[in-house]
Amino acid sequence: MPAPATEHDIVTVPKVELHLHFGGSIAEATAATLARRHGQDPDRVLRLRDGRYPAPYADFRGFLRTFLAANQFIRTPDDLELVARELARTQAAQNVIYSETIFTAMIYVRNGMDAASMWAALGRGLQAAGSGIRIGILVDSIRDFGSPEADATVALVEAAGPEIPIVGLGLTGIEGTMPVADFVPYAYAARRLGLGLEVHAGEMGPPSGVAESLDILHADRIGHGVSAIQDPALVERYVRDKVVLDVCPSSNVAIGEYPSLDQHPMRAFWDAGVSFNISSDDPPFFGVTLTDELRNVVRVLGLSRGDLAELQRRGARAAFQPQAVRDELVARIDAWEAAG
Ligand SMILES: [Zn+2]
Repeated sequence: MPAPATEHDIVTVPKVELHLHFGGSIAEATAATLARRHGQDPDRVLRLRDGRYPAPYADFRGFLRTFLAANQFIRTPDDLELVARELARTQAAQNVIYSETIFTAMIYVRNGMDAASMWAALGRGLQAAGSGIRIGILVDSIRDFGSPEADATVALVEAAGPEIPIVGLGLTGIEGTMPVADFVPYAYAARRLGLGLEVHAGEMGPPSGVAESLDILHADRIGHGVSAIQDPALVERYVRDKVVLDVCPSSNVAIGEYPSLDQHPMRAFWDAGVSFNISSDDPPFFGVTLTDELRNVVRVLGLSRGDLAELQRRGARAAFQPQAVRDELVARIDAWEAAG
């Protein structure tokens, strides 16, 4: 049996993260700075405990309250650029070579930003990543707001200039609040614009929501998909149809879906051969980083250096990028593995 991946392996592996919410990347100190900038007492409005967000949460809505409390202070292009810069630097510092950030543009439009200034600020901030890392933007619509919000999101995407690296559309929010079929035009828009489609499903909702996302929306990737553990036929389908899941274990535990990482379905998925990649979702809000999350997964699954590389290759192959870019990412991971 190959030796387990070492701490050095976990830190140095070229990482691919496909599921990181922009609005979920705001560090506590930055949220506090932004709250003060807009005349509010951060401890009160952000419910900080010892300067930290209050993870674990009683449930998803508890997390959402804190997420929205922080995001209400991204009101100006300067606010947004600050958060984008920190996201880019944090990813680069973890040896991330490719990252997709899920950007809920409508939050910031509702906060009063005009679309052109929003996109420009996002583009400026992400440049802080430097040259060794590529960041794609996956613009999501919150399903709770229904298809009008989805239409407005598509309009914002169409208004963004070619210099903004939008690679996909996302559907997020609370499963079951709106029928999946309402978002068929949204899924068509992704195809028409040449973008990938990532649908959050099977996070808190039932396995049937995942099946609908695949059958009705033809999602390219499923965000979470973990509730399939209740439906062996769906797990079989994951393997047979090579369905790609963006799995975020600490996120699932922090909102109370599973009592611990050891009881998370990743173990069963790994053993069954499900093609999942590992992401941190909303890292400061859950008290983890991507590196922490990989450390957790190495421990729980007993991964070797080769397994760790394979996990990153799976992410690279599922990136919403042209084949040449995906090949280049895989080659960088291969080179790292071969050098060990
Ligand atoms: Zn997510």
